[in-house]
Amino acid sequence: MSLFYKPNRKPDYNYGGPKWTLSRSKIDLFMECAQCFYIDNKLGVARPPGFPFNLNSAVDALLKKEFDTHRANGTQHPLAKAYGLDAVPLQHARMDEWRDALRHGVKCIHKETGLTVRGGVDDIWVNKDGELIVIDYKATSKDGRIESLDEDWHRGYKRQIEIYQWLLKQNGFKVSDMGYWVYANATKDREAFDGRLDFELTLVPYQGKTDWVDGVLVQLKACLDSDTIPEAGSECDYCRYREAVQAQELLKSVKKVKPLPTTYAQEQQTELF
Ligand code: SF4
Repeated sequence: MSLFYKPNRKPDYNYGGPKWTLSRSKIDLFMECAQCFYIDNKLGVARPPGFPFNLNSAVDALLKKEFDTHRANGTQHPLAKAYGLDAVPLQHARMDEWRDALRHGVKCIHKETGLTVRGGVDDIWVNKDGELIVIDYKATSKDGRIESLDEDWHRGYKRQIEIYQWLLKQNGFKVSDMGYWVYANATKDREAFDGRLDFELTLVPYQGKTDWVDGVLVQLKACLDSDTIPEAGSECDYCRYREAVQAQELLKSVKKVKPLPTTYAQEQQTELF
């Protein structure tokens, strides 16, 4: 059995259970496909996760160490300097808790729905005006320099920054509309691997909007309180796979039907003519 996939979780962690909270990734799942969100959070069967990206995690961990040095010294990182961003990593007693995506994150109780919402940030910087800046680390390997994120599928990355901005605002902080991705892009234009990867770091700005979050939380709560399983989203390959498998199984079961005994078949034929 896979160590990564545990299909039926303990009811305590389902909606209505004492340990259930609404993480940033669950909000994203609701927006991607309300059906999967419902089956996961209400019925307790989550979609199988992707295999963990260990190289990306290594980049995240090293970036965290690098920015933590500047946090401790109160200094601007050279990347921020290169992009003319007058900000330093935030020093705050709750920084580690806010970065703990699995157990804590930045939390709030949403007044209108009573939902406990949370999201674990990669980093928070602060500018001269005392505004908090949401920073998200990303690692990839693609051709060209990454200076903007314009593909449709980047919408999830943008929502991620916006939910963190919203959470920080709910906690009473002054938050800059500008968030940034620290992008680490592994270059492939070297002669050989030689046991190392070289990364180009860029700082990609994004002007977030948080005005959609309240409305989505109200819809999401209504979905959870309903007894009806919502429609599936159209952009997902998992259900297409499930449907294709079901179709094959159906086909197989048709083939498995035994031929009728000759006498009975003959009787039917006689009746027909
Ligand atoms: S389309 Fe199916 S598998 Fe995909 S997210 Fe929705 S319910 Fe889940």
